[in-house]
Amino acid sequence: MRTCDVLVVGGGPAGSSAARQLKLGGASVLVLDKERFPRLKLCAGWITPEVVRDLGMDVASYPHRFLTFERLHVHLKGLHFRLSSVQHSIRRFEFDAWLLERSGAEVVQHTVRNIRAQAGEYIVDELFRCRYLIGAGGTRCPVYRTLFRELNPRATELQTVTLEHEIEYPWKDPDCHLWFFERGLPGYSWYVPKQNGWLNVGVGGMAERIKSSRGDIRDHWSHLQQTLERSLAPGANYEPTGYSYFLRGRVEVVRRDNAFITGDAAGLATRDMAEGIGPAIRSGQRAARSILEGAAYSLQDVTGASLGGGWVSRALDWAMTRGHAPLRTPAVHSPAK
Ligand SMILES: Cc1cc2nc3c(=O)[nH]c(=O)nc-3n(C[C@H](O)[C@H](O)[C@H](O)COP(=O)(O)OP(=O)(O)OC[C@H]3O[C@@H](n4cnc5c(N)ncnc54)[C@H](O)[C@@H]3O)c2cc1C
Repeated sequence: MRTCDVLVVGGGPAGSSAARQLKLGGASVLVLDKERFPRLKLCAGWITPEVVRDLGMDVASYPHRFLTFERLHVHLKGLHFRLSSVQHSIRRFEFDAWLLERSGAEVVQHTVRNIRAQAGEYIVDELFRCRYLIGAGGTRCPVYRTLFRELNPRATELQTVTLEHEIEYPWKDPDCHLWFFERGLPGYSWYVPKQNGWLNVGVGGMAERIKSSRGDIRDHWSHLQQTLERSLAPGANYEPTGYSYFLRGRVEVVRRDNAFITGDAAGLATRDMAEGIGPAIRSGQRAARSILEGAAYSLQDVTGASLGGGWVSRALDWAMTRGHAPLRTPAVHSPAK
């Protein structure tokens, strides 16, 4: 059986950020991921300046596609606004592999199925043993499923549904476009160009509200496709695929004994823009710090709002979630043994 201080389940942004910090702190770390990297991850690949700062990224030496937008084009009810706001795009296929390699941690391709606690340690699939366990396996994370699901049931009202496709396409417009609430969609669609002729387009919204209004995300996709065909991306061919994740709700417990959940496993995407990369990275770093320093693991500074929590951000949050219960600070859980 392989033994290490910390086992990280999932090598996405949450897992690789935790692993990097732990390695820098001298811990022995093993990352398990069911995929071999580089792997496909459905995501528009928009990252904020905060993400760049949190990662201590030297953009000039980043070896892959990285595009900076100086403004965002927001389309709302037939109106078009240009907002000055510096944001960036990457391709997840490249970015996640780069982050994982940069972590310096050993990565083993393995699908985690079974987790049990035994004498102050965690045993994973009878193959791996560790003192600390970090759940960074995204929406279907087995650490969440086994140790946290009952303590943190997910709110179906906060579940998103998406359809997207990333293609090679010689785009002409180098800016990011967002269409909010088109045709009653409780969410938005996007056009996110990537450096050197790649493009991500997609549509996402609140699953339960789409269902209760008898809508279908595929109809919203068709509408986006028509919009793109008219001007931004004529002649493009798509084969969209879907994925679901959760916006941040009342995550009551993020640590249980020596097990932690981070990123999408904890359901941390922002309430106003459904941004999940930044919260995944920050929560992974905070979990690592807690292990290294014996400090509390807190999501206090893991933002739940991409647009800073002002009125625009609150209005978007409300429009997406219809005023679902506000965020609360989660706690550490140590059940009586
Ligand atoms: C269509 C779409 C568009 C999005 N656009 C954006 C955007 O533009 N910007 C943004 O900030 N966020 C966006 N998000 C959200 C963002 O992609 C996620 O919040 C983010 O990837 C969360 O990172 P993570 O590390 O928690 O999980 P993930 O990136 O999902 O990584 C989890 C890893 O765990 C592995 N894993 C899963 N199960 C197991 C298992 N049993 N055993 C071993 N390994 C396992 C997976 O293979 C995966 O590599 C988007 C999401 C979608 C679906």
